[in-house]
Amino acid sequence: MKRFTKHTVKNSLKRIFLYRASLTRMKLLGVEKIYSYTLSDETGVTPDQIRKDFSEFGITGNKRGGYDVNDLIDKMEKIFHRNKDHNLVLIGMGNLGSALSKYNKFVHKSMNIVATFDIDPFKQKIRSDIPVYSLSRLKEIIDRFKVKVAIIAVPEIAAQEIADDLIKTGIKGIINFAPVLLKTPADVIVNNVNLCDELESVIYYVHNQMKSDSAKNLEQLYKGTKY
Ligand code: ATP
Repeated sequence: MKRFTKHTVKNSLKRIFLYRASLTRMKLLGVEKIYSYTLSDETGVTPDQIRKDFSEFGITGNKRGGYDVNDLIDKMEKIFHRNKDHNLVLIGMGNLGSALSKYNKFVHKSMNIVATFDIDPFKQKIRSDIPVYSLSRLKEIIDRFKVKVAIIAVPEIAAQEIADDLIKTGIKGIINFAPVLLKTPADVIVNNVNLCDELESVIYYVHNQMKSDSAKNLEQLYKGTKY
């Protein structure tokens, strides 16, 4: 049965990214051992929450002696299967799709976009490092490279149909940049990334912050005024 998938990436997993980034920075600074309260200072997550997250992902350590930074990073890399190569396909070679196809960080993290697909015959003729195929070759290419994860960067109107086609070929995970909530079977993992929503959330916080700053300034002003 198909269902809407929205929040498939758990907050605890997002915090693991935060811990990993912080640990990587500390490693560069030469730090070898770390305590949950130090990591808490760095990330703003409470020590209790950090220990809970570690236990959820089976990360163990000596509470008293602290955690070994290298060991923690290794364990986190294992959570994300960094020891293996992951082949991906990308559908929709518009502005966003082509930028993503050139993003080197994916390759550095063993995530290889092996093929891209577009409905536009002109785009299929463009010579680039990663080939642009017609959608009629979707199954063939996905089977050939044993792809399990796909990136969708097609317009909203085409996204659901593309998702359905991908799932028919055996795709099990989708990162969807089209601003639409996809309906997928329960065994397919979808991460909807709506860049406009992400920006709007920053705009919301910036304006709230400005509002509360100006309220504080007014308060200060009135406090200093003698009637
Ligand atoms: P972007 O939104 O990435 O900036 P754009 O504005 O250049 O791209 P869009 O109209 O959003 O273009 O389309 C993104 C890409 O998806 C285009 O290259 C388009 O040809 C392709 N596309 C549109 N419909 C389909 C489809 N059904 N299957 C595959 N590709 C499609």
